[in-house]
Amino acid sequence: MNLENKTLKELFDLVDKIGKKRYNRLTEQDFSNYKQYDHWRYINSNFGTGSTQESKDWVTDHSDSHCPICNIRYHKDNGRTIDHKLPRSKYPWLSMEFKNLWVICRDCNQEKGEMDWYEYERYIFIRYPKSYSDLRIYRPIQLIQLKKS
Ligand SMILES: [Zn+2]
Repeated sequence: MNLENKTLKELFDLVDKIGKKRYNRLTEQDFSNYKQYDHWRYINSNFGTGSTQESKDWVTDHSDSHCPICNIRYHKDNGRTIDHKLPRSKYPWLSMEFKNLWVICRDCNQEKGEMDWYEYERYIFIRYPKSYSDLRIYRPIQLIQLKKS
């Protein structure tokens, strides 16, 4: 498909179409990998949140004082959360891949929900146009290329 001659609107329509399609059919192996990961999350942790001292340290090391999306300063009730750039529901095998994780605020995490990455970029482009160019550095390009091959 040649994307170069398409208008922005045509590209957005395409993203919409692709993003809404559930194109990963999970295998038995995917599920068994996922169960392993899921177990790992809860080792030494508070079972309810799945947060460990290691994950708390990781969050501190990988975040600024402000959320990279909405630019609001993190505070107690709107704290830092670890988000999966490519959502766990569609990419369970990437749920413990550190390249797939980043720190954003709770509100942004909820807004993002199960959006696929490019759906999400489109959403940011419309909702937070000032943040858009800075956010492109977070693109999980390697993971997306890995998936294609
Ligand atoms: Zn935010």
